[in-house]
Amino acid sequence: MRIKLHWQILIALILAVLFGYFVPQGVKYVSWMGNIFLRALTMVIIPLIFSSIISGVTSMGDGKNLGRLGIKTLFYYIFTSTLAILTGLTVVNLIKPGVGVDLGFSKSVEGLADQAGSVKDIFYRLIPDNIIGSMAQGEILPVIFFAILFGYFITRVEKKHRQSLSTFFDAVFDVMMKITLFIIKFTPLGIFGIVSAEVHRNSDDLASVAGSLAIYSLCVVVALLIHALISLPLIVRFIGKAKPYAHLKNMTVPLLTAFSTSSSSATLPLTMDALENNSGVSNKVSSFTLPLGATINMDGTALYECVAAIFIAQAYSIDLTFGQQALVVVTALLASIGAAGIPMAGLVMITVVLTAVGLPLEGIGLILAVDRILDMLRTSVNVWSDSCGAVIIARSENEKTNVAAS
Ligand code: ASP
Repeated sequence: MRIKLHWQILIALILAVLFGYFVPQGVKYVSWMGNIFLRALTMVIIPLIFSSIISGVTSMGDGKNLGRLGIKTLFYYIFTSTLAILTGLTVVNLIKPGVGVDLGFSKSVEGLADQAGSVKDIFYRLIPDNIIGSMAQGEILPVIFFAILFGYFITRVEKKHRQSLSTFFDAVFDVMMKITLFIIKFTPLGIFGIVSAEVHRNSDDLASVAGSLAIYSLCVVVALLIHALISLPLIVRFIGKAKPYAHLKNMTVPLLTAFSTSSSSATLPLTMDALENNSGVSNKVSSFTLPLGATINMDGTALYECVAAIFIAQAYSIDLTFGQQALVVVTALLASIGAAGIPMAGLVMITVVLTAVGLPLEGIGLILAVDRILDMLRTSVNVWSDSCGAVIIARSENEKTNVAAS
Protein backbone atom coordinates (compact mmCIF):
# COMPACT_ATOMS: atom_id res chain seq x y z
CA MET A 1 0.00 0.00 0.00
CA ARG A 2 1.32 3.45 -0.89
CA ILE A 3 1.17 6.16 1.74
CA LYS A 4 -0.21 9.45 0.39
CA LEU A 5 2.40 12.15 -0.14
CA HIS A 6 1.06 14.55 2.49
CA TRP A 7 1.22 11.81 5.12
CA GLN A 8 4.75 11.01 4.09
CA ILE A 9 5.64 14.68 4.51
CA LEU A 10 3.96 14.91 7.89
CA ILE A 11 5.78 11.83 9.11
CA ALA A 12 9.06 13.22 7.76
CA LEU A 13 8.40 16.48 9.59
CA ILE A 14 7.79 14.80 12.93
CA LEU A 15 10.76 12.47 12.56
CA ALA A 16 12.94 15.45 11.57
CA VAL A 17 12.02 17.38 14.72
CA LEU A 18 12.84 14.36 16.89
CA PHE A 19 16.02 13.61 14.99
CA GLY A 20 17.26 17.22 15.01
CA TYR A 21 16.62 17.52 18.70
CA PHE A 22 17.77 14.15 20.02
CA VAL A 23 20.44 13.14 17.52
CA PRO A 24 22.21 16.46 16.80
CA GLN A 25 25.41 14.66 15.82
CA GLY A 26 23.54 12.90 13.00
CA VAL A 27 22.24 16.10 11.40
CA LYS A 28 25.32 16.67 9.27
CA TYR A 29 24.69 13.35 7.54
CA VAL A 30 21.17 14.23 6.44
CA SER A 31 21.20 17.99 5.80
CA TRP A 32 22.47 17.43 2.24
CA MET A 33 19.06 16.03 1.32
CA GLY A 34 17.47 19.35 2.21
CA ASN A 35 20.07 21.32 0.29
CA ILE A 36 19.63 19.23 -2.83
CA PHE A 37 15.85 19.48 -2.62
CA LEU A 38 15.96 23.26 -2.28
CA ARG A 39 18.44 23.55 -5.16
CA ALA A 40 16.19 21.41 -7.35
CA LEU A 41 13.16 23.58 -6.56
CA THR A 42 15.13 26.75 -7.18
CA MET A 43 16.36 25.28 -10.45
CA VAL A 44 12.85 25.02 -11.87
CA ILE A 45 11.45 28.33 -10.59
CA ILE A 46 12.62 30.74 -13.30
CA PRO A 47 11.92 28.57 -16.38
CA LEU A 48 8.64 27.43 -14.80
CA ILE A 49 7.43 30.98 -14.14
CA PHE A 50 8.64 32.23 -17.48
CA SER A 51 6.99 29.53 -19.57
CA SER A 52 3.87 29.37 -17.43
CA ILE A 53 3.19 33.11 -17.59
CA ILE A 54 3.79 33.27 -21.32
CA SER A 55 1.56 30.28 -21.93
CA GLY A 56 -1.13 31.75 -19.64
CA VAL A 57 -1.01 35.24 -21.13
CA THR A 58 -1.10 34.03 -24.75
CA SER A 59 -4.12 31.87 -23.92
CA MET A 60 -5.97 34.96 -22.71
CA GLY A 61 -6.27 36.22 -26.24
CA ASP A 62 -6.17 39.95 -25.85
CA GLY A 63 -5.08 42.73 -23.55
CA LYS A 64 -8.58 43.25 -22.14
CA ASN A 65 -8.60 39.86 -20.43
CA LEU A 66 -5.14 40.44 -19.08
CA GLY A 67 -6.08 43.85 -17.72
CA ARG A 68 -9.24 42.53 -16.05
CA LEU A 69 -7.39 39.62 -14.46
CA GLY A 70 -4.58 41.92 -13.35
CA ILE A 71 -6.92 44.38 -11.65
CA LYS A 72 -8.85 41.61 -9.87
CA THR A 73 -5.64 39.98 -8.70
CA LEU A 74 -4.12 43.18 -7.35
CA PHE A 75 -7.36 44.10 -5.65
CA TYR A 76 -7.50 40.70 -3.93
CA TYR A 77 -3.87 40.99 -2.78
CA ILE A 78 -4.26 44.43 -1.28
CA PHE A 79 -7.61 43.62 0.27
CA THR A 80 -6.53 40.40 2.01
CA SER A 81 -3.15 41.74 3.12
CA THR A 82 -4.83 44.77 4.67
CA LEU A 83 -7.38 42.55 6.35
CA ALA A 84 -4.55 40.42 7.75
CA ILE A 85 -2.78 43.51 9.10
CA LEU A 86 -5.96 44.75 10.77
CA THR A 87 -6.45 41.32 12.37
CA GLY A 88 -2.90 41.48 13.73
CA LEU A 89 -3.42 45.06 14.91
CA THR A 90 -6.56 44.12 16.81
CA VAL A 91 -5.02 41.07 18.47
CA VAL A 92 -1.80 42.84 19.50
CA ASN A 93 -3.74 45.80 20.91
CA LEU A 94 -5.98 43.48 22.89
CA ILE A 95 -3.31 41.17 24.29
CA LYS A 96 -0.52 43.77 24.61
CA PRO A 97 2.34 41.24 24.68
CA GLY A 98 5.04 43.93 24.79
CA VAL A 99 3.96 45.66 27.99
CA GLY A 100 6.52 45.00 30.71
CA VAL A 101 8.84 42.95 28.52
CA ASP A 102 12.40 42.71 29.80
CA LEU A 103 14.56 44.58 27.29
CA GLY A 104 17.66 42.84 28.61
CA PHE A 105 17.37 39.73 26.49
CA SER A 106 17.49 41.65 23.25
CA LYS A 107 20.04 40.25 20.77
CA SER A 108 22.17 42.66 18.80
CA VAL A 109 21.33 43.34 15.16
CA GLU A 110 23.42 45.10 12.59
CA GLY A 111 23.07 45.99 8.96
CA LEU A 112 19.49 44.79 8.55
CA ALA A 113 18.25 48.23 7.46
CA ASP A 114 20.77 48.36 4.61
CA GLN A 115 19.43 45.13 3.17
CA ALA A 116 15.82 46.26 3.10
CA GLY A 117 16.14 49.03 0.51
CA SER A 118 13.60 51.80 0.22
CA VAL A 119 10.01 51.69 -0.96
CA LYS A 120 11.11 53.41 -4.18
CA ASP A 121 13.49 50.51 -4.84
CA ILE A 122 10.60 48.08 -4.65
CA PHE A 123 9.04 49.70 -7.70
CA TYR A 124 12.32 50.11 -9.53
CA ARG A 125 13.10 46.46 -9.03
CA LEU A 126 10.05 45.55 -11.09
CA ILE A 127 11.67 46.57 -14.36
CA PRO A 128 14.79 44.61 -15.23
CA ASP A 129 17.68 46.50 -16.76
CA ASN A 130 19.03 43.17 -17.89
CA ILE A 131 16.55 40.32 -18.16
CA ILE A 132 19.23 37.64 -18.43
CA GLY A 133 20.88 39.12 -15.34
CA SER A 134 17.58 39.03 -13.44
CA MET A 135 17.01 35.43 -14.44
CA ALA A 136 20.52 34.50 -13.42
CA GLN A 137 20.01 36.15 -10.04
CA GLY A 138 16.66 34.42 -9.57
CA GLU A 139 14.84 37.77 -9.23
CA ILE A 140 11.21 36.85 -9.68
CA LEU A 141 9.43 40.20 -10.07
CA PRO A 142 11.39 41.45 -13.10
CA VAL A 143 11.05 38.02 -14.71
CA ILE A 144 7.26 38.15 -14.23
CA PHE A 145 7.17 41.66 -15.67
CA PHE A 146 9.14 40.65 -18.74
CA ALA A 147 7.18 37.41 -19.24
CA ILE A 148 3.85 39.27 -19.17
CA LEU A 149 5.19 41.75 -21.70
CA PHE A 150 6.57 38.97 -23.87
CA GLY A 151 3.35 36.96 -23.71
CA TYR A 152 1.25 40.00 -24.50
CA PHE A 153 3.29 40.92 -27.55
CA ILE A 154 3.18 37.36 -28.84
CA THR A 155 -0.55 37.98 -29.28
CA ARG A 156 0.33 41.03 -31.33
CA VAL A 157 2.53 39.44 -34.01
CA GLU A 158 1.44 37.80 -37.24
CA LYS A 159 -0.61 34.62 -36.96
CA LYS A 160 2.07 32.19 -38.10
CA HIS A 161 4.53 33.38 -35.44
CA ARG A 162 1.86 33.73 -32.83
CA GLN A 163 0.86 30.11 -33.21
CA SER A 164 4.34 28.66 -33.25
CA LEU A 165 5.44 30.74 -30.26
CA SER A 166 2.39 29.82 -28.20
CA THR A 167 2.82 26.15 -29.03
CA PHE A 168 6.48 26.36 -28.14
CA PHE A 169 5.91 27.96 -24.74
CA ASP A 170 2.98 25.63 -23.97
CA ALA A 171 5.31 22.73 -24.62
CA VAL A 172 8.11 24.18 -22.48
CA PHE A 173 5.62 24.71 -19.70
CA ASP A 174 4.48 21.08 -19.96
CA VAL A 175 8.04 19.90 -19.63
CA MET A 176 8.72 22.18 -16.65
CA MET A 177 5.59 20.88 -14.94
CA LYS A 178 6.76 17.28 -15.49
CA ILE A 179 10.15 18.08 -13.95
CA THR A 180 8.36 19.72 -11.03
CA LEU A 181 6.21 16.63 -10.47
CA PHE A 182 9.33 14.53 -10.46
CA ILE A 183 10.99 16.75 -7.83
CA ILE A 184 7.85 16.76 -5.69
CA LYS A 185 8.25 13.02 -5.18
CA PHE A 186 11.34 13.75 -3.10
CA THR A 187 9.63 16.28 -0.84
CA PRO A 188 9.58 14.05 2.29
CA LEU A 189 13.32 13.43 2.08
CA GLY A 190 14.04 17.10 1.40
CA ILE A 191 11.89 18.19 4.28
CA PHE A 192 13.53 15.72 6.63
CA GLY A 193 16.93 17.23 5.77
CA ILE A 194 15.79 20.86 6.06
CA VAL A 195 13.79 20.56 9.23
CA SER A 196 16.26 18.44 11.20
CA ALA A 197 19.01 20.95 10.41
CA GLU A 198 16.80 23.88 11.41
CA VAL A 199 15.73 22.25 14.66
CA HIS A 200 19.35 21.55 15.49
CA ARG A 201 20.40 25.15 14.70
CA ASN A 202 17.54 26.75 16.62
CA SER A 203 17.12 24.42 19.54
CA ASP A 204 18.38 27.13 21.95
CA ASP A 205 15.82 29.57 20.62
CA LEU A 206 13.02 27.11 21.28
CA ALA A 207 13.45 27.98 24.95
CA SER A 208 12.66 31.62 24.09
CA VAL A 209 9.37 30.60 22.60
CA ALA A 210 8.47 28.96 25.84
CA GLY A 211 9.88 31.83 27.88
CA SER A 212 9.67 35.56 27.56
CA LEU A 213 8.48 35.62 23.99
CA ALA A 214 5.64 33.20 24.54
CA ILE A 215 2.87 35.77 24.59
CA TYR A 216 4.23 37.64 21.62
CA SER A 217 4.50 34.39 19.64
CA LEU A 218 1.02 33.45 20.74
CA CYS A 219 -0.32 36.77 19.44
CA VAL A 220 1.23 36.19 16.04
CA VAL A 221 -0.04 32.61 15.92
CA VAL A 222 -3.58 33.47 17.01
CA ALA A 223 -3.86 36.32 14.51
CA LEU A 224 -2.44 34.12 11.72
CA LEU A 225 -4.91 31.36 12.54
CA ILE A 226 -7.86 33.75 12.56
CA HIS A 227 -6.84 35.06 9.17
CA ALA A 228 -6.08 31.68 7.63
CA LEU A 229 -8.91 29.61 9.08
CA ILE A 230 -11.72 32.16 9.37
CA SER A 231 -11.25 35.27 7.22
CA LEU A 232 -9.81 33.67 4.08
CA PRO A 233 -12.24 30.71 4.08
CA LEU A 234 -15.16 33.15 4.39
CA ILE A 235 -13.87 35.10 1.40
CA VAL A 236 -13.41 31.88 -0.59
CA ARG A 237 -16.90 30.74 0.35
CA PHE A 238 -18.83 33.93 -0.25
CA ILE A 239 -16.87 35.81 -2.87
CA GLY A 240 -15.33 32.80 -4.62
CA LYS A 241 -18.41 30.58 -4.25
CA ALA A 242 -16.06 27.68 -3.57
CA LYS A 243 -15.47 25.19 -0.76
CA PRO A 244 -12.57 26.51 1.32
CA TYR A 245 -11.85 23.36 3.31
CA ALA A 246 -11.92 21.08 0.28
CA HIS A 247 -9.40 23.45 -1.23
CA LEU A 248 -7.34 23.45 1.98
CA LYS A 249 -7.11 19.68 1.77
CA ASN A 250 -5.87 19.93 -1.81
CA MET A 251 -3.17 22.28 -0.64
CA THR A 252 -1.66 20.08 2.08
CA VAL A 253 1.59 19.32 0.26
CA PRO A 254 2.50 22.93 -0.65
CA LEU A 255 1.42 24.20 2.78
CA LEU A 256 3.59 21.67 4.60
CA THR A 257 6.44 22.51 2.25
CA ALA A 258 5.98 26.24 2.88
CA PHE A 259 6.05 25.51 6.59
CA SER A 260 9.23 23.47 6.32
CA THR A 261 11.16 25.65 3.88
CA SER A 262 9.92 29.09 5.03
CA SER A 263 10.04 30.15 1.42
CA SER A 264 7.05 31.03 -0.75
CA SER A 265 9.27 31.10 -3.81
CA ALA A 266 10.76 27.65 -3.27
CA THR A 267 7.24 26.33 -2.68
CA LEU A 268 5.87 27.93 -5.85
CA PRO A 269 6.31 24.89 -8.14
CA LEU A 270 4.34 22.76 -5.67
CA THR A 271 1.67 25.44 -5.27
CA MET A 272 1.16 25.58 -9.01
CA ASP A 273 0.90 21.83 -9.23
CA ALA A 274 -1.68 21.62 -6.42
CA LEU A 275 -3.81 24.43 -7.83
CA GLU A 276 -3.91 23.03 -11.33
CA ASN A 277 -4.00 19.31 -10.67
CA ASN A 278 -5.95 19.14 -7.39
CA SER A 279 -8.18 22.20 -7.21
CA GLY A 280 -8.65 22.34 -10.98
CA VAL A 281 -7.75 25.98 -11.59
CA SER A 282 -6.78 26.72 -15.20
CA ASN A 283 -3.23 27.50 -16.18
CA LYS A 284 -4.47 30.84 -17.48
CA VAL A 285 -5.34 31.96 -13.95
CA SER A 286 -2.78 30.11 -11.87
CA SER A 287 0.17 31.01 -14.09
CA PHE A 288 -0.63 34.64 -13.68
CA THR A 289 -1.73 34.87 -10.05
CA LEU A 290 0.60 32.42 -8.29
CA PRO A 291 4.07 33.66 -9.27
CA LEU A 292 2.94 37.22 -8.64
CA GLY A 293 1.36 36.18 -5.35
CA ALA A 294 4.48 34.35 -4.19
CA THR A 295 6.42 37.59 -4.40
CA ILE A 296 3.97 40.36 -3.57
CA ASN A 297 1.00 38.84 -1.77
CA MET A 298 2.13 37.98 1.74
CA ASP A 299 -0.74 38.16 4.19
CA GLY A 300 1.18 36.32 6.89
CA THR A 301 4.20 38.58 6.56
CA ALA A 302 2.06 41.73 6.51
CA LEU A 303 0.28 40.65 9.67
CA TYR A 304 3.54 39.76 11.34
CA GLU A 305 5.16 43.11 10.44
CA CYS A 306 2.33 44.92 12.15
CA VAL A 307 2.28 42.76 15.28
CA ALA A 308 6.07 42.95 15.61
CA ALA A 309 6.18 46.74 15.22
CA ILE A 310 3.45 47.33 17.80
CA PHE A 311 5.09 44.79 20.13
CA ILE A 312 8.37 46.72 19.91
CA ALA A 313 6.56 49.99 20.59
CA GLN A 314 4.90 48.44 23.64
CA ALA A 315 8.20 47.02 24.89
CA TYR A 316 9.86 50.44 24.70
CA SER A 317 6.78 52.06 26.26
CA ILE A 318 6.20 54.23 23.21
CA ASP A 319 2.57 55.19 22.82
CA LEU A 320 1.56 55.21 19.18
CA THR A 321 -1.03 57.74 18.09
CA PHE A 322 -3.85 56.71 15.79
CA GLY A 323 -1.97 58.30 12.89
CA GLN A 324 1.16 56.34 13.71
CA GLN A 325 -0.79 53.08 13.89
CA ALA A 326 -2.27 53.90 10.49
CA LEU A 327 1.26 54.44 9.23
CA VAL A 328 2.20 51.00 10.61
CA VAL A 329 -0.68 49.51 8.60
CA VAL A 330 0.42 51.17 5.36
CA THR A 331 4.12 50.45 5.76
CA ALA A 332 3.46 46.86 6.84
CA LEU A 333 1.57 46.41 3.58
CA LEU A 334 4.43 47.90 1.57
CA ALA A 335 7.00 45.86 3.48
CA SER A 336 5.11 42.65 2.75
CA ILE A 337 4.94 43.55 -0.95
CA GLY A 338 8.65 44.25 -0.96
CA ALA A 339 9.69 41.16 0.98
CA ALA A 340 11.15 38.40 -1.14
CA GLY A 341 9.70 34.91 -0.82
CA ILE A 342 12.72 33.62 1.05
CA PRO A 343 13.38 32.70 4.70
CA MET A 344 13.43 35.64 7.12
CA ALA A 345 12.81 38.25 4.44
CA GLY A 346 10.07 39.65 6.66
CA LEU A 347 12.53 40.30 9.45
CA VAL A 348 14.67 42.41 7.15
CA MET A 349 11.69 44.37 5.88
CA ILE A 350 10.53 45.25 9.35
CA THR A 351 13.20 47.95 9.36
CA VAL A 352 11.04 49.79 6.81
CA VAL A 353 8.11 49.87 9.22
CA LEU A 354 10.17 50.81 12.27
CA THR A 355 11.98 53.61 10.42
CA ALA A 356 8.74 55.05 9.04
CA VAL A 357 7.12 55.25 12.47
CA GLY A 358 10.31 56.29 14.27
CA LEU A 359 10.65 53.19 16.44
CA PRO A 360 14.08 51.98 17.61
CA LEU A 361 15.70 49.54 15.17
CA GLU A 362 17.33 47.70 18.09
CA GLY A 363 13.81 46.51 18.85
CA ILE A 364 14.34 43.86 16.22
CA GLY A 365 16.79 42.22 18.62
CA LEU A 366 13.84 41.44 20.87
CA ILE A 367 12.03 39.31 18.33
CA LEU A 368 15.02 37.72 16.63
CA ALA A 369 14.99 34.52 18.68
CA VAL A 370 11.54 33.42 17.61
CA ASP A 371 11.58 34.79 14.09
CA ARG A 372 12.60 31.57 12.40
CA ILE A 373 9.74 29.64 13.94
CA LEU A 374 7.15 32.32 13.23
CA ASP A 375 8.50 32.53 9.70
CA MET A 376 7.37 28.95 9.09
CA LEU A 377 3.80 29.80 10.00
CA ARG A 378 3.59 33.11 8.21
CA THR A 379 5.02 31.56 5.04
CA SER A 380 2.27 28.91 5.08
CA VAL A 381 -0.30 31.69 5.44
CA ASN A 382 1.33 33.57 2.55
CA VAL A 383 1.05 30.52 0.29
CA TRP A 384 -2.48 29.75 1.49
CA SER A 385 -3.64 33.26 0.64
CA ASP A 386 -2.09 33.06 -2.85
CA SER A 387 -3.91 29.81 -3.45
CA CYS A 388 -7.25 31.17 -2.22
CA GLY A 389 -6.77 34.15 -4.54
CA ALA A 390 -6.25 31.84 -7.50
CA VAL A 391 -9.46 29.93 -6.70
CA ILE A 392 -11.51 33.11 -6.22
CA ILE A 393 -10.25 34.64 -9.45
CA ALA A 394 -10.80 31.41 -11.38
CA ARG A 395 -14.37 31.28 -10.07
CA SER A 396 -14.96 34.92 -10.97
CA GLU A 397 -13.88 34.00 -14.50
CA ASN A 398 -16.62 31.34 -14.48
CA GLU A 399 -14.21 28.43 -14.22
CA LYS A 400 -15.76 25.34 -12.78
CA THR A 401 -12.69 24.14 -10.84
CA ASN A 402 -12.85 21.10 -8.53
CA VAL A 403 -13.82 23.08 -5.46
CA ALA A 404 -16.89 24.98 -6.65
CA ALA A 405 -19.64 25.16 -4.05
CA SER A 406 -22.71 23.50 -5.44
N1 ASP B 1 9.56 33.62 4.45
C1 ASP B 1 8.44 34.36 3.97
C2 ASP B 1 8.01 33.84 2.62
O1 ASP B 1 8.78 33.27 1.90
C3 ASP B 1 8.71 35.82 3.90
C4 ASP B 1 8.93 36.33 5.28
O2 ASP B 1 10.04 36.23 5.80
O3 ASP B 1 7.97 36.82 5.88
O4 ASP B 1 6.87 33.98 2.24
